Amino acid sequence: MSISIKSRDEIDLMRRVGRIVHQTLATCAAAAKPGMTTAELDQLALETWSRAGAEGLFKNYPTYQPGKGFPGNTCISVNDEVVHGIPGPRKLNTGDIVSIDCGLRLGGWCGDSAITIAIGEPSAEAAKLIRVAYETLQLAISLIRPGRRWSDIAKPMQHHVESNGFSCVREFVGHGIGRRMHEEPKVPNFFSRELERSGDFYLQKGMTLAVEPMVIIGKPDVVVLEDGWTVLSKDSTSAAHVEHTIAVTADGCEVLTDGS
Ligand code: MG
Ligand code: MG
Repeated sequence: MSISIKSRDEIDLMRRVGRIVHQTLATCAAAAKPGMTTAELDQLALETWSRAGAEGLFKNYPTYQPGKGFPGNTCISVNDEVVHGIPGPRKLNTGDIVSIDCGLRLGGWCGDSAITIAIGEPSAEAAKLIRVAYETLQLAISLIRPGRRWSDIAKPMQHHVESNGFSCVREFVGHGIGRRMHEEPKVPNFFSRELERSGDFYLQKGMTLAVEPMVIIGKPDVVVLEDGWTVLSKDSTSAAHVEHTIAVTADGCEVLTDGS
């Protein structure tokens, strides 16, 4: 495993693109309302980052199926869609839970972040789901510092999700990020034998990671639609996905996609 280490200047460049990612997601969150389609939200995202000079990273992202690159600019996943939802004619309804995932490049550096919002007033369970997803990401941020093993962060993340009665998605994990959107290492939000045996790593100053808990109300199992992309919870319960690009610093971490 070779994990790239970024200099102070490089992290500052990653914050530049991170600010545009944040601005795009904030613009979408403010605009999302009942009756709006996910394609309209996607177009708004594209216009927002294009004005700022950034380039989207998801459109035509390749998959194992030839000719089926990702068709959207953002991933928009509604209710039981966990991640990789394709923007389209679906209209947002009051009570929907909407995850918007945005990955951008500017000046050769990448940023990746996702938010989950409710349209109108969510059910108590949906509100709890969203809260627990954000708390899990915040917990990771509070624990990241040089010298700590990733498994010692993944375990409490998983515990926070499961002690609230929810499940961690196992099929998808966070990742290193830098000049490329997906770099080593894999950054899971749960503990596994695989992580313990071969995937664990010690955090070092200058590592930049995209941490992205995916939480399902019901069971952790997921299925992929025939479109080759949309990931659904198998039991059709709702899911939330939140993500930040984070740099490890000398005494903790900095969030590069929080707009600061
Ligand atoms: Mg993302
Ligand atoms: Mg990511």
